[in-house]
Amino acid sequence: MNSPREETIGELLPPDRLMLTPGPSSVDPRVYRAMAAPIVGHMDPWFTHMMDDVQAQLRRVFQTKNHLTFPISASGSGGIEAAVMNPLDAGDECIVCVNGAFSERMAIIAERIPAKVIRVEVPYGRTVDPADVLRAGRGRRIKLVGLTHGETSSGIVQRIGDYRRVADELGALLVVDAVATLAGVPLDVDGERIDFCFSGSQKAISAPPGMAPITVSQRGEQTIEARKEPVRSWYFDLSTAMNYWGKDRLYHHTPPITLIYAMREALRAVLEEGLEARWERHRTNQQALVSGLEAMGLKLFVSDPADRLITVTAVNIPAGIEDPPARKQLLEEFNIEIAGGLGPLKGKIWRIGLMGYSCQERNVLLFLAALEKTLSDQGFRLPAGAATAAALASYKQARQPALAGARK
Ligand SMILES: *Cc1c(COP(=O)(O)O)cnc(C)c1O
Repeated sequence: MNSPREETIGELLPPDRLMLTPGPSSVDPRVYRAMAAPIVGHMDPWFTHMMDDVQAQLRRVFQTKNHLTFPISASGSGGIEAAVMNPLDAGDECIVCVNGAFSERMAIIAERIPAKVIRVEVPYGRTVDPADVLRAGRGRRIKLVGLTHGETSSGIVQRIGDYRRVADELGALLVVDAVATLAGVPLDVDGERIDFCFSGSQKAISAPPGMAPITVSQRGEQTIEARKEPVRSWYFDLSTAMNYWGKDRLYHHTPPITLIYAMREALRAVLEEGLEARWERHRTNQQALVSGLEAMGLKLFVSDPADRLITVTAVNIPAGIEDPPARKQLLEEFNIEIAGGLGPLKGKIWRIGLMGYSCQERNVLLFLAALEKTLSDQGFRLPAGAATAAALASYKQARQPALAGARK
């Protein structure tokens, strides 16, 4: 057989997948169009002016007045790296609330500084009790408390305010991973007084992967300025990267110009829709998805609806169904990608993302019908048509105007 190198390599023609994973989500054609615009230099006055637009847009989406707000040239994990490495010095004490793969990643990064990391840990699918955080930090000099707002690995959301109160009692900064929540789930950086908050371009913002928007409070900035030693990462040192994104616009590294175009257009779509309307869209679509899954006889991994992350739904794989063949059928027959479980949840759950451009009624209905056929082909007995009927009923209910005070 010839090796692929000896054959002619054809034109790049990726399949047109519907991305229902916890990221990347599908990209709106208007964002692709923006990406086809010609490159200019990163020091071009037109470009540096355009960067102001992106920063202003990000401030509105994060709901902050923070000066230090810009997209880092990195994926969401680069956001974790920056948010942890900038405030922490070797030997500093911090608390990380660990309830899944991404909060665990935050702890691992902090340990590499090396900071003294106290992990307040619960099993996947649970929220960390703020009282346990307070207990763990009492009598210590805790520099920051870190948590993941939406844990994509298990479909869990945590209430930021509860951890802010604990961080206040400990005199600590609050670091929040909002990679899976920004622009999909209510989040108010200034209102909730988050010191370091970051996200990823490819989740609810629905741009391609590769940028990590970050915002830092004044107190966070002061912590960076007060450092005795330079940040242990040259690339993620926010005090120097900010010379480029700050008013000086000094060269730091060549940013991904095309991705910044994409961010600008994706954020324009977010703000055109309005944050409230966007959150409501995510809520309504997930509600319909959940109704459909339950009507099929499936069980959600997170039992308390109040703890469920709106953007990523974790559902138990039913007994008798194998994970890989089912996902393979969804991909090959319907062009739909969903994700399996991470770490201890591998083979046990599926994770269905409904974020940004992917989060649409027609996608929910298509997915439920596709999953019904897939599960049925794989030998799972379920009531025909029940999932889509339940989802449609959920949409109908959501569209009904609230009868103010008329019914109890
Ligand atoms: C996806 C995700 C990350 C990691 O982002 P990458 O872009 O894959 O580096 C971090 N935290 C959360 C909560 C995520 O959902």
